[in-house]
Amino acid sequence: MTDSMQQTLETLERQGNLRRLPRLTHKGRFVETDGKELLNLSSNDYLGLAADRNLRAEFLESLTPDSFLPSASSSRLLTGNYAISEQLENALATLFGSEAALVFNSGYHANTGLIPAITDSQTLILADKLIHASLIDGIRLSEARSIRYRHNDLNQLERLVARYASEYERILIVTESIFSMDGDEADLPRLVSLRRSYADKVWLYVDEAHAFGVRGKQGLGCAEEKGCTHDIDFLVGTFGKAAASVGAYIVCRKVVRDFLVNRVRPFIFTTALPPVNLMWTHFIVQRLPQMADRREHLSSLATLLRTSLQMQGLSTCSTSHIIPILAGSSTEATRLARQLQRYGFYVLPIRPPTVPEGTSRLRISLTANITQEEMQAFLTLLTDQHSPTKTNCEHL
Ligand code: PMP
Repeated sequence: MTDSMQQTLETLERQGNLRRLPRLTHKGRFVETDGKELLNLSSNDYLGLAADRNLRAEFLESLTPDSFLPSASSSRLLTGNYAISEQLENALATLFGSEAALVFNSGYHANTGLIPAITDSQTLILADKLIHASLIDGIRLSEARSIRYRHNDLNQLERLVARYASEYERILIVTESIFSMDGDEADLPRLVSLRRSYADKVWLYVDEAHAFGVRGKQGLGCAEEKGCTHDIDFLVGTFGKAAASVGAYIVCRKVVRDFLVNRVRPFIFTTALPPVNLMWTHFIVQRLPQMADRREHLSSLATLLRTSLQMQGLSTCSTSHIIPILAGSSTEATRLARQLQRYGFYVLPIRPPTVPEGTSRLRISLTANITQEEMQAFLTLLTDQHSPTKTNCEHL
């Protein structure tokens, strides 16, 4: 048995795709590895909240041995439904102006649970080619037929909807708002107008994992930014990135929430999140609307990096704080990442199966606690290393 595992590991190693758990010590916006401190350009702590010691100190002041409950000890439907679970859901519903919200243990739980629950054999799922693994796994668990449309190709999507609308009771369109690996965005207004033109036939499912906290006036995501939160049937986001916590939410109609409580298996058959964690998430979520300064700083860092890459002839499809630099092969992506690490920047290679074969890349993910000076030093490194005869990332 272990022989075949060993062989698999050797194959992965040869392809440059072997993964190992990194040993890191976190020091605010830096990580320490092999005794060296590097600026973390690979974190999803987009607003810099997880690294903010003052925020943690403020939260800790509110805790007592009675309120510090480290475990829910049960599923929500048994004895794990604490007052804080519903306080958080009510706070989310109020912020979004929605009828209801429901919290899940993670984005992975949410996506793998929701999609099979809301679809059946009479449903056709139309999903963007580059959606996250958790959405793909949710689709795999569903009884519905699914077709993947070319990434962000809404012309193709419209053709597919027109072609299949009469054959299925329902069509579920599944997309992310900001895509996790490319940092580009779905055209939400156009998706909403497609949904509208098919009345009740087409439902829209949007995963805002990388936009929650970061986009919109109150930090509620791209749907808030585009003014279409109420036109999305299943609006999902996660707490593990900009909200510096763990878990996920859906904001939806009350009838949908009641249905999900009865049907989502990763909601029903798992121990609920610890109350102390829900308290922390609630603490953060209530402060998100006031964090416009962090959002603006993040956005200006991202514009600076994207513009600089473009000026060096390195095209990027990103329109956000997630900025990939394509390397092609996994070995090349790994080599480039090591090179940047040597110069003090913790950048990681992203390889298959996370991204399609041949599109290995460096994924730079910016956070609001990076200073302009640090960004400038990173840009100088990219520029200094640049040789005009080479293309893409070969110059590093
Ligand atoms: N959706 C998207 C788009 C993601 O990128 C991720 C995680 N990277 C998830 C869902 C899963 O969320 P979680 O980490 O909370 O399980």
